[in-house]
Amino acid sequence: MALRFRNSLTRTKEEFQPIEPGHVRMYTCGPTVYYYAHIGNFRAYMFEDLLRRYLKFKGYKVTQVMNLTDVDDKTIRDSQKEGVSLKEFTKKYIDAFFHDLDTLGIERAEYYPAATDHIPEMVAIIKKLLERGLAYEVDGNYYFRISAFPEYGKLANLDLNNLKAGARVAADEYEKDSVSDFALWKAWDEADGDVYWETELGKGRPGWHIECSAMSTKYLGNHFDIHTGGIDNLFPHHENEIAQTEGATGEKFVNYWLHCEHLIVDGAKMSKSAGNFYFLKDILEKGYPGVAVRYLLMATHYRQQLNFTFQGLDAARKALERYNDFISNLSDYSGGEDSGGEAKQAIDKMLKGFEETLDDDLNISGALGAVFDFIRDINRLKADNKLSAAERDSALEAIRKVDTVLNFTYQQQDEHLDSEIEALIQKRTDARKNKDYVLADKIRDELLAMGIVLEDTAQGVKWKRKV
Ligand code: AMP
Ligand code: ZN
Repeated sequence: MALRFRNSLTRTKEEFQPIEPGHVRMYTCGPTVYYYAHIGNFRAYMFEDLLRRYLKFKGYKVTQVMNLTDVDDKTIRDSQKEGVSLKEFTKKYIDAFFHDLDTLGIERAEYYPAATDHIPEMVAIIKKLLERGLAYEVDGNYYFRISAFPEYGKLANLDLNNLKAGARVAADEYEKDSVSDFALWKAWDEADGDVYWETELGKGRPGWHIECSAMSTKYLGNHFDIHTGGIDNLFPHHENEIAQTEGATGEKFVNYWLHCEHLIVDGAKMSKSAGNFYFLKDILEKGYPGVAVRYLLMATHYRQQLNFTFQGLDAARKALERYNDFISNLSDYSGGEDSGGEAKQAIDKMLKGFEETLDDDLNISGALGAVFDFIRDINRLKADNKLSAAERDSALEAIRKVDTVLNFTYQQQDEHLDSEIEALIQKRTDARKNKDYVLADKIRDELLAMGIVLEDTAQGVKWKRKV
């Protein structure tokens, strides 16, 4: 079966075909950098990481763009509160964002364009919309005229029969019951302070939605394959992106729209405004590694709500321990008798199950089920001494292959290097040889504090990272 995605635009599951054979172009709405991203945001970015990695697993070249919203009502408001320039203010959160991506083992997109670097591109689209009668000006503000774009509402499935002609909304975010002409460009007012651009449209700044139309088409072309985001982006943000882009280009904008459900806490969406959020660092400070958060965020299907709990995180940690122990113990195994085809069967079953389930709209639970069944089967053969060295190698190759998607074995950036750990272990071995047990124990504790667990075996000291 071929790769299929549930397309929010058609509300059906469709077979995936990229516009250019072998090459997928995708756009992902990125963070508004007015504060640290919370782990709800990272659920969206983790789903996009799974999507990206799986497309590569299937052999596609991927070009992904994720924007950075570094100008909007919130970034302006909070930079002024701090009394620093907008650039200086947002830089801190952009740096933190990239650090968090690394901590979670999220692969980098090809482009991270910032809104403030693309003002001329946004102005060009607005001018096009004016030419085509799809935008108009009121006191230096420019709005999109949705009554002139009959397809408005096709993504969010809106009924526009009761639309009030000429009603306008200036805010970037609003609910479905305030469907109205939305702002493309906002004239400068005092609240904006020194944040403005002098353009052909006058002195002002862009609305939020226009940046994604400008940056996606700049890097991916007018028509591309996949656009993703959290479900809250579907309306109004993505509906408005379609209107702006298709209105300006006259072409179809995006073939597949994929939206992930929210991460929730006690039944409510985790959000900065509700105040019920965790930052990644809050969780790391409780002693959980980034990879446990990765597992938790990834392991629930993206179109299901994910309820965040610390029990869930503990379970993620256990599963990871099983996964990583499997790989390290198998690597150390010197091989026994041949299984007579059983190992090959287990490997083939796992690879087939992994791909078949992920092909089905990224059914990750099915894929993880296949992986853990395989771990059980291979462990059993190994325990019975019925796994040859060649079979061991094939099993390791198989799990490494699926790990290019799961990425459960990566090292966190701030983790200690293997060489540093091995040097300390050598120092401890020397201390023990010299019967300096006090020093040896001190080094063991030091390693433990670094998250390294030692095991004294007949073959010498083995070590692993605590998950
Ligand atoms: P924002 O910085 O609020 O624009 O959000 C950045 C991304 O995170 C968007 O794709 C949102 O849809 C997504 N997002 C925000 N809150 C959550 C949540 N609780 N669960 C999942 N995704 C979220
Ligand atoms: Zn966007």
